[in-house]
Amino acid sequence: MISVEQALGKILENISVLEVEESPILSCLGQVMAEDVSSTINIPPLDNSAMDGYAVRSADTVGASRKSPRTLRVIGIVTAGSIFPSEVKKGAAVRIMTGAPLPKGADGVVRFEDTDESERKGNSSEVAILTEAVPGLEVRRAGEDITAGSLVLSKGTVIRPAEVGVLASLGLSAVKVIRRPVVAVLATGDEVVDIAKPLPEGKIYNSNTYSVAALVLRYGGVPKILGIAADIEDSLVAKLHLGLDADMLVTSGGVSFGDYDIVRDVLAKEGEIVFWRVRQKPGRPLAFGMIKGVAKRGEVKKIPLFGLAGNPVSAMLNFELFARPALFKMMGREPLAKRTLEAVIDEDIENSDGRRIFARAIVEKRGGQYFARLTGPQGSGVLTSMALANGLVVVPEDTPGVKKGDIVQVMMLDWSESVE
Ligand code: AMP
Ligand code: MG
Repeated sequence: MISVEQALGKILENISVLEVEESPILSCLGQVMAEDVSSTINIPPLDNSAMDGYAVRSADTVGASRKSPRTLRVIGIVTAGSIFPSEVKKGAAVRIMTGAPLPKGADGVVRFEDTDESERKGNSSEVAILTEAVPGLEVRRAGEDITAGSLVLSKGTVIRPAEVGVLASLGLSAVKVIRRPVVAVLATGDEVVDIAKPLPEGKIYNSNTYSVAALVLRYGGVPKILGIAADIEDSLVAKLHLGLDADMLVTSGGVSFGDYDIVRDVLAKEGEIVFWRVRQKPGRPLAFGMIKGVAKRGEVKKIPLFGLAGNPVSAMLNFELFARPALFKMMGREPLAKRTLEAVIDEDIENSDGRRIFARAIVEKRGGQYFARLTGPQGSGVLTSMALANGLVVVPEDTPGVKKGDIVQVMMLDWSESVE
């Protein structure tokens, strides 16, 4: 049976980066830029005021103080978005609002607080300046943020809200990015029932489709829900064929040793199995292969298929361990691995059969040290253990386990205030 690393290596060998497309900036969160973006404009475009106040010639304010004010003639007002039509000559000032371009002749701004503004109440023909201005005072320089001609965002950048804002500030409504993978999600099992229906005796609701589709969304893919296949080959093949235009197929269930575990057989018929079974717990029965799909222009392409185990914890875990890195590789994102940290484990975890154990845990930071405690029962059907957990304690294979107080590696699923 292959190790987690070997399995991941074989998966990534079969995955390539997707094509580039132009997309509206707001649709690009989490996507990777496929082009360098330079600016054709200065931002801000003109010298402008950082404060509400008076635009002055600093030379006119030399020696000004509260005890010895300098009175200037107010020749008008300039608001954000307009250009003052004349020049500020010696002895003159212009009322200026934040963001308004600095009038010609002025070289600094004295904020209202440093004038007698509050006492004047509407009499705006003159103003007393109570402090000395220096050239550039409260002035935001043209091009201070971005200079025309400069490289602003480079190819390979992951787009976050700040990048969306920067692109908008350049006046760009769309940008070239590596496109999002479409991930077809299929549940299997005669016992599995759609969540919109009543639950007959002996059946269970389909949770895997939703946890997996949520993971796809979280990591930047587009889920395409194919529904539930019954445990007969015809049903599985028919449903699978609905997903052949996707970039990745993810099934759950039907990959163990049971009489009705047919995913592997179908994978073998529709394509090739790269491996199945990984030396880990939970999630051993993972099948991975490439099946013949259909590309947009009708040509045949190969699509990676992840046959996740049916148990809800195993399905999520194997998505995190194997499908997520594949998704990230398709999107051009790095790093592929989730973050790990070292924590003190607060109970023994026994490893009896040489597999790598991933135990659901709650990680907290106390006194500069991380501590991990298990979420409770670790059965692979206990999905609430995933809801409680923020990390997975990794117990190495080929060890008898870990003891309370040992330092263990934890693969973090989430970061919350308790660990920051
Ligand atoms: P299987 O590998 O098909 O034998 O499934 C293993 C376990 O996972 C069984 O107890 C199934 O009932 C359960 N299971 C399979 N598919 C789903 C699903 N879509 N949602 C919730 N549980 C499932
Ligand atoms: Mg099943």
